[in-house]
Amino acid sequence: MRRNGAIKRVETIAAIATARGEAGIAIVRLSGPDSLEMAGGVLSLKKNTLKEMPPRRMSNGYLLDEKGEGVDQVLVVWFAAPRSYTGEDVVEIHTHGGTLVASKCLELLICRGARLAEPGEFTKRAFLNGRIDLAQAEAVLGIIRARSDEALKAATRTLRGELTEFTIDIHSEILDLLGQMEVSLDFPEEDTPLREDEEVVQSIQALIQSLEDLLDRCSAGCLLREGIRVAIVGRPNVGKSSLLNALLRESRAIVTSIPGTTRDLIEDVLTWRGVPIRLIDTAGLGGVPSDEVEAIGVARAEAAFKEADTRVWVVDGSSAPDDFDLAMACRIAELDHIVALNKSDLPFGRDENGRTAEELLSEALPGSGILRISARHGTGLDQLKDLIVSSIAGSGTLEAGLNASARQVGEIRTAIARLKDAADAIDGGLGHDVAAGCLNECMMAIERLLGITGGHSLLDHIFSQFCVGK
Ligand code: GDP
Repeated sequence: MRRNGAIKRVETIAAIATARGEAGIAIVRLSGPDSLEMAGGVLSLKKNTLKEMPPRRMSNGYLLDEKGEGVDQVLVVWFAAPRSYTGEDVVEIHTHGGTLVASKCLELLICRGARLAEPGEFTKRAFLNGRIDLAQAEAVLGIIRARSDEALKAATRTLRGELTEFTIDIHSEILDLLGQMEVSLDFPEEDTPLREDEEVVQSIQALIQSLEDLLDRCSAGCLLREGIRVAIVGRPNVGKSSLLNALLRESRAIVTSIPGTTRDLIEDVLTWRGVPIRLIDTAGLGGVPSDEVEAIGVARAEAAFKEADTRVWVVDGSSAPDDFDLAMACRIAELDHIVALNKSDLPFGRDENGRTAEELLSEALPGSGILRISARHGTGLDQLKDLIVSSIAGSGTLEAGLNASARQVGEIRTAIARLKDAADAIDGGLGHDVAAGCLNECMMAIERLLGITGGHSLLDHIFSQFCVGK
């Protein structure tokens, strides 16, 4: 089956499928109708042609240069169309590692007429030839990019087709509903029972619920793939860099007791309970810049502070809160945050009325969790990481997370919004035709999600994110 029209003239494409650099082996991949002939032309094999050798089985051979001289001893395997990754004839040549031999092999194939594959072109062909659907193609990207075991599992679940199956079910439910509504619109005099408003709204609400469940699973998948962005905030010298270092267990930031020396944003990733946590040091936040470089730092810190999924506000528990702290309490109150009361290994500092930072902050931020930690001694850090993950990921959905791209999540949100419009249209007495219009738009969003519609620009956008050779 071919989707979105057949490819006009199928070229045979080639690329190095393994990462560059020194390694045991490198794999050069070919896909297209002339794969076997082209590969056969640069190899010396036991049989005369590749076709005479059984597919899906490794064979020994030699890679030959233009003059017919052996360049490397290689292994070769071929897959017959349509039972291959791309649905076309595919050949893989396994050369010894290092860039030179693989590059030479690629060059020889290009001399024989192969075209250098574009990023993601193998996967794009798999999609165009109906081997995988768009959600699965994007899941391949998720697998390549996964930075934690959990993210990998989410992408694998999607590759197995869970996202597509779920979405196809919803698509057919919407079609059914639309069918019933349109019958009653087109033939009001027929004895097809006109579906009662209440009944239609109930069906729409059930669809909204299903899509919201799907959104939760996809959001969990995004979280597993992209990680939780955590801005570390606090005034100078409270121990932000020390905390960052303690969390990462390596000295990336310069720890110093001179206030305000960490000017650049430092971002690093750690994985906790399978979830990547991206820590961003926002030193400079709220500062008054004295030069252009500092101004850039302050602006970056402000942006990171606003865009983060949550904020860890580090407060020095050994000194009394100052004006900066009180201003920060107001700023942070409206946003997701955790207060980390650092230096808890030292005696509490008190203000002129004898009140500790903890007392003052629990008053200024009622309901905020205040966690006592010591970056120096590493105490309270596991609880802090637990709190970061549970505050954003909640519980339960992570294990069912699906790999979805921002694009797919956007389409699910659009679909939900249009369903809500449809329900509102009926509730507001606007009639079934207005609701049917909204349902149609919802269905279009679902179809874009599945890649049934969307055209070439969408495909180009998706596949351009892949690496060459995939
Ligand atoms: P930043 O300016 O907020 O990044 O603060 P730093 O991480 O540079 O720390 C400032 C000073 O506080 C350094 O001398 C650290 O050793 C010290 N410090 C950081 N965390 C702790 C802690 O938990 N306990 C104690 N006693 N000192 C700490």
